[in-house]
Amino acid sequence: MGGGLIGLAIAVALAERGVSVMLISERRPGEASPAAAGMLAPSVERAPGPAHAFGVAARDRYPSYVEFIADRTGVVVPLNRLGILQVALSEKGIKGLSKTALPTTRWLDTKELRELEPALSHGLGAMFNPDDGAVDNVVLLSALEKLCANHDRISRLRGAATRVDPAEDSCTVRTESSAPYTARHVVIAAGAWAGKISGARLARAVLPARGQLVSYSSSPLRHVAYGPRGYVVPRGAVTIGGSTMESVGFDSSTTPSGVKKVRAASEEICPSLSDSKNVDAWAGLRPVTPDMLPMIGPDPKHPSLIYACGHSRNGVLMAPLTGDLIADLVTESPLSHNLSQFRPDRF
Ligand SMILES: Cc1cc2nc3c(=O)[nH]c(=O)nc-3n(C[C@H](O)[C@H](O)[C@H](O)COP(=O)(O)OP(=O)(O)OC[C@H]3O[C@@H](n4cnc5c(N)ncnc54)[C@H](O)[C@@H]3O)c2cc1C
Repeated sequence: MGGGLIGLAIAVALAERGVSVMLISERRPGEASPAAAGMLAPSVERAPGPAHAFGVAARDRYPSYVEFIADRTGVVVPLNRLGILQVALSEKGIKGLSKTALPTTRWLDTKELRELEPALSHGLGAMFNPDDGAVDNVVLLSALEKLCANHDRISRLRGAATRVDPAEDSCTVRTESSAPYTARHVVIAAGAWAGKISGARLARAVLPARGQLVSYSSSPLRHVAYGPRGYVVPRGAVTIGGSTMESVGFDSSTTPSGVKKVRAASEEICPSLSDSKNVDAWAGLRPVTPDMLPMIGPDPKHPSLIYACGHSRNGVLMAPLTGDLIADLVTESPLSHNLSQFRPDRF
């Protein structure tokens, strides 16, 4: 249930393992997957404990994943693995970045930074996180839609799922528009709305967190760059700047103050963005959990009901690997990662 990047990646992974899939989803304003900035940034959006290794593995799953998608759909999903810069704009910023440096990061001084990204030449230096980067999540989403539409083992029911009733060896889904549907497993991948599905009791810990983004009609950068208050992401001819993190329920509109804040944070990182002719803005709802880690795994009381939601700030990053793991769980294959940190019943 759910047709964002998480639900689509799961549907494809299951179907590729020979499982018949019914994908139940409806479009809603505020969906996170088309709204996201698409960063693959496990080194910066760092998770605690073994979840960090999971984030790195999720990032490194991307090259083979986009290759697979290109083979199957002809769609080339743009993937940037050039590394992410955390730009220091003050002496305090330099100190802060050096405290949080990972063994994989490298400090670039002013001259090295200027040579790498002339548009960041006002920076005092930057922490360089190799192999992090970004994917074009909008192209990825449409490629996965295409793959699902053409896959023999994936059927599609467009509409809202309202309730799940797990039994011992199966689970029944009720929808607004059609007869109940029973399957061996049901996977909750309904993003910020997961907790609204009656019977999906553990997903009540997932809440919406609005993020407002802007897009500039110019592309002065090759690398994703973070500053002290936000980030900028090059995407083809445009540059995306983000983002707010707001608890405003399911309201996915932009606000003048939010857009102003995001613009200030982006233009502080890359001042030439303020010369762009057009600036668009939009917002999406991140599905967040109290510890910002996803829920991936079965309900211990009802193993036919599986959770794959609450990916918070890293759902684009984690979508392909989440698909692999849910397919492992459903087909009872050995798991490539320990999922104990992501247990859905941990809250
Ligand atoms: C502003 C912003 C910036 C972000 N930037 C990044 C980033 O740079 N990198 C990164 O990794 N992540 C980022 N994220 C987070 C990422 O977008 C999410 O974690 C991820 O997209 C969640 O995917 P999802 O499929 O779970 O949810 P969604 O994309 O929201 O999809 C859920 C789907 O389920 C459907 N649905 C919901 N309820 C029902 C129901 N009852 N019945 C049927 N269908 C239902 C919805 O309509 C929707 O289509 C960002 C998010 C935002 C908002």
